[in-house]
Amino acid sequence: MPGRIVPANDAWIAEAAQMIRAGALVAFPTETVYGLGSDAANGEAVARIFEAKGRPSFNPLIVHVAGLEQAVIIGSFSATARRLTEAFWPGPLTLVVPRLETTDVSDLVSAGLPTVAIRAPDHPIARELLKQANRPIAAPSANRSGHVSATRAEHVAADLGDNATLILNGGPTAHGLESTVLSLVGDTPVLLRPGAVSIETIEQVIGEKIARANEKGEHLTSPGQLRSHYAPHSKLRLNATTWKSDEAVLGFGKVAKHPCRASINLSPSGDLIEAAANLFAALRALDESGADTIAVTPIPTAGLGEAINDRLERAAAPRD
Ligand code: AMP
Ligand code: MG
Repeated sequence: MPGRIVPANDAWIAEAAQMIRAGALVAFPTETVYGLGSDAANGEAVARIFEAKGRPSFNPLIVHVAGLEQAVIIGSFSATARRLTEAFWPGPLTLVVPRLETTDVSDLVSAGLPTVAIRAPDHPIARELLKQANRPIAAPSANRSGHVSATRAEHVAADLGDNATLILNGGPTAHGLESTVLSLVGDTPVLLRPGAVSIETIEQVIGEKIARANEKGEHLTSPGQLRSHYAPHSKLRLNATTWKSDEAVLGFGKVAKHPCRASINLSPSGDLIEAAANLFAALRALDESGADTIAVTPIPTAGLGEAINDRLERAAAPRD
C-alpha cells in the first residue's frame, strides 16, 4: 500500500492503531515533530523503521507511551524520574532510564543498550493513537537519516515516500523542536540532547544541577560515540567462511556446516529485516556460549545490511 496522507479523524486513527498492532509503520504528529512509529515490541517492524530512514547505524529510538503506567513496565523509574514525569508528562521530555529485563520492547529499539528512552507525547492525535494501539510505539523523527525533522505531513510524504504505510495529517507541529533527552542512568542527570523543555526548568524541578554530555569524557554515553561501545566479551571475526570447532558462529543466509561450539543464523532465508530484528539477542546468546571468538559469516551491505555491518564492526573493534 502506498504511503498516503489521511485526515487524523476518529476513523483513521482507529485504522492507524490497527495497523500499528499488525506491524505496519505509521507516521503521526506529536507536539515536537512527526514521528515514524511501529509497535515497539515487534522487532521486524522496528527494523523496518531503520530501513525506511536509511540509517547507516542502529541509533536507539524513543519509545512513546500513553503515560507513566506504561513506562514503568519498560524501564526503571527512580524518585527523580517520577518527579520529572509528574512535572513534564505528557510533554517533550524524553527520559533515558535502565531497561527492565522483563520488558517485551525489542532490544533493537535500545540498539542493544541496557537503557531505554521513553516519553509521553502531548498531542491529541498521538495520545489517541497510543491509547487505541494500547502498546508502546517506537518512533524516531519521520525523516530520512541526515535530513531535517518533518513538521508537516507533506514533508513526511516527500521524505519517506511509500515507507510509511499511512501518514496521519495533524497539520504543522507546534514546537518544531525535538524533545529534550535527559539520561537518569548514572549518579547525576545528564542532558543528552537539548530540546523543547529547557534545562533550567528541569533543574528547578529536581533541585539539582544537570551535567551536559560532552562536558566530560565519561558523559559521552550517546550511542555511536564510543567505537567499541557495544562490544560483547567474545572477540568477533567478520566475513568468516570457515571456523574452528571451539568458535561460535553467527550466520546469515546459507551457511556451511562445519562443526562449531554454538551457532545462530540471523536469517536462514537471507532477509535483512529478520536479521536486524534478531541481531542483539543472537550476539548476547553467542557471547554467553563462552566461546572465545564469534565467527560472523558475510552479510550484504545493501539496505539494512549497512547498519548491521556497522554494529558488527563496532563489536569487533579493539577494546581499550
Ligand atoms: P530521534 O530518533 O530523532 O527521535 O532522536 C532520538 C534521540 O534519543 C537521539 O538523540 C538518540 O541518541 C536518543 N536516545 C534514544 N535512546 C537512547 C538511549 N537508550 N541512550 C541514549 N540516548 C538515547
Ligand atoms: Mg531525528
